[in-house]
Amino acid sequence: MIANPIPWPNGARCACAITFDMDADSLIHISRPVDGFDRLQPISMGRYGPLVALPRILATYARLGLKQSFFVPGWCLERYPETVEAILAAGHEIGHHGYLHEDPTALSAGEHAHWFGRALDAHARICGVKPVGYRAPVYNANQAVIDTLVREGFRYESSLMGDDIPYRLETAAGGLWEMPVHWGSDDWPPFAHYPEIGYMMPVMAPTDGLAASFQEFEAQYEAGGFWMGIWHPFLTGRLARWRVVETWLEQVLAERKVWFAPLRDIASHLDALVSHGRWTPRRDSLPYYDRPQHQR
Ligand SMILES: [Zn+2]
Repeated sequence: MIANPIPWPNGARCACAITFDMDADSLIHISRPVDGFDRLQPISMGRYGPLVALPRILATYARLGLKQSFFVPGWCLERYPETVEAILAAGHEIGHHGYLHEDPTALSAGEHAHWFGRALDAHARICGVKPVGYRAPVYNANQAVIDTLVREGFRYESSLMGDDIPYRLETAAGGLWEMPVHWGSDDWPPFAHYPEIGYMMPVMAPTDGLAASFQEFEAQYEAGGFWMGIWHPFLTGRLARWRVVETWLEQVLAERKVWFAPLRDIASHLDALVSHGRWTPRRDSLPYYDRPQHQR
């Protein structure tokens, strides 16, 4: 049960978004800033995303008529412009995802402003548009991030876990939509194996790893909610896993009342619902806290 289900367009029972975070090899350069540039195995694992997985993903989307959202670090926009061009030419959305996948909670205010702005410059130069959505690298949004997004006029954020369906983040200076994520439909826990950054969990079989995301979908569908996959091209875009996703997509599109859309379109739908008084979102006021809570 969802307390305030959202009326979706055209009688759809559930809004759906596959969001791909195209991190490519940014992860090894940011986590191993001194010697990452010469670690060929993780570089090649990351490059598989834009160079091998993305064409496969875009071909599936074109065949099934889907438009979806991608989050791409600014450095990856610069590094893989042909892939970016293919994403945009097909009508998909690209959101802000840092410059070199910096963890915002590890940055000073000045560093955060620098890298956020440098990523915005890359979007303007390479995509030709200012992004309207943001996902924090490793989901690590903090108050500085939210304040920056509000100041820059972003329409949505997608790193927090406070609800099953989109809700509002409100600050004194303004607000934006939260498109909530969760580890349950993130492909990192089942599929990532990355010794260089200390991640060495066993890799699950494609059907087992994706089952978590698909069960999340079933619950959201039953409740009339919002389902979002938070996936990485170099993980879920690999041959065997994408084959499972393709089969699932074909079934869901044929048999269910779903609305697959880029997050920007879902945000527009929510704006319209609110302005017409057809739905009232839950609102979180930020900051949650203004000081550490374990103080004498
Ligand atoms: Zn990422």
